[in-house]
Amino acid sequence: MRKALLLVGSSMALAMLLTFGMPLQKVAAQDDLLKYGPNDRSRPEPPVIAPGTASTQDHPGEPPSDAIVLFNGKDLSNWVSVKDGGPAKWTVGKGYFATVPGTGYIRTKDAYGDCQLHVEYATPNPPHGTDQDRGNSGVFLHGLYEIQVLDSYNNVTYADGEAAAVYGQHPPLVNAARPPGIWQTYDIVFHGPRFDSTGAVVRKANVTVFYNGVLVQDHVELTGPTAHHQRPPYQVTPEKLPLALQDHNHPVRYRNLWIRELKEGQ
Ligand code: MG
Repeated sequence: MRKALLLVGSSMALAMLLTFGMPLQKVAAQDDLLKYGPNDRSRPEPPVIAPGTASTQDHPGEPPSDAIVLFNGKDLSNWVSVKDGGPAKWTVGKGYFATVPGTGYIRTKDAYGDCQLHVEYATPNPPHGTDQDRGNSGVFLHGLYEIQVLDSYNNVTYADGEAAAVYGQHPPLVNAARPPGIWQTYDIVFHGPRFDSTGAVVRKANVTVFYNGVLVQDHVELTGPTAHHQRPPYQVTPEKLPLALQDHNHPVRYRNLWIRELKEGQ
């Protein structure tokens, strides 16, 4: 009995220790840790998926079997214009689509929450312009938080505006850029913000980014939406919002975009 009480007491203490101050998405995982002992065979097995294949320069790879494919290689049926909600006015080429300067941002028709996102892009070759005026676009998580797309190959700009920067907030840890015209990858893990009933932020958004397979953003917290020369505060937003891509007047190409939504606890 005493041993049992001690066990209960210690697991409560552990629960408090594990839960206090912990990001919300981790709490469910910690609940499972308390529910199942080590090597417990009654613990549910993870779902089986096919992991997909890596891309080459000539061919986009296969997404994991449980991913939502955002571009089918043929049309922009999953995308609309941010400006008017009408059809996306970007062009579609053989297995890719590209920004049409002046047509504005595009966004997904559907909204997504916390996620793993894979994006491939190639900046114009030969390159034009310098600094921010060279192969500029952007991946806007929730339509609000920009992971910068830029031709950062032999192109000097401010640190928090380089390719794979959280624009205006976090420079990438290294510049892992490939030359213009070469397909490059972003693998992003994004957790959106959470708000309580009064609108206070209880969890800031955070993001992890691998750029061409290299870790460049290591679970960084966002100060709020990204902006030029500003760090605006969070506004209360839903847990799911569309993903947007930026028109920054440069014909940047995209292919092989897919997303896997994360459940609470992941
Ligand atoms: Mg940009």
